[in-house]
Amino acid sequence: MDTGFSAAVARRRGRDHLRCPADALRLLKSNPEEIRDVVVTHLHYDHVGNFDLFPAARFHLQELEMRYATGRHMAEAKHGGAYDVEDVVGMVRRAYAGRVRFYDGDAEIYPGISVHFIGGHTMGLQAVRVATRRGWVVLASDASHFYANLEQARPFPIVWSIPDMTQGYGRLLELAESPSHIIPGHDPLVLERYPAPSAALQGMVARLD
Ligand SMILES: [Zn+2]
Repeated sequence: MDTGFSAAVARRRGRDHLRCPADALRLLKSNPEEIRDVVVTHLHYDHVGNFDLFPAARFHLQELEMRYATGRHMAEAKHGGAYDVEDVVGMVRRAYAGRVRFYDGDAEIYPGISVHFIGGHTMGLQAVRVATRRGWVVLASDASHFYANLEQARPFPIVWSIPDMTQGYGRLLELAESPSHIIPGHDPLVLERYPAPSAALQGMVARLD
């Protein structure tokens, strides 16, 4: 789910680039070139960059997100600023090649793994729910950047629709086994609250199950 952003984009946007997600997968003995399914929660540059490092993948995306990212609102910096046009064009090319599976709402993509339309942050943002040993875990992505967004009902300021965003907090709570089964998209606390699979992966990878 989601593919981060590249070192080149990091330089252009003045961001620190700690590690390519494809390299992080290799640390988990997972070969990005063989991965067949990638859920893209939304097309913001920090979630869909590096998609070309997954040549065998089919991408799972909400139809509304593609409409948003290719439509009139992108001319406004407050909506288009977090999109990288080359990422969006790349995803359009994959759509033409039949490599994107579009959704209009919620869908189970594999037994125990489902996507859930949330909206709010962007027009077509989706969260992912996964059946784990401890119950239903919800990967919120930017439906809640930080724990505080959800817990204090404080909308993140990059937003398409504040009502949809605050409704989305309720939807996340409905989907998850408990509030502590919701994983925010950008909160460093996740790496403190969940254990690494091994000492070598401390600070890089957290087991959420
Ligand atoms: Zn975002």
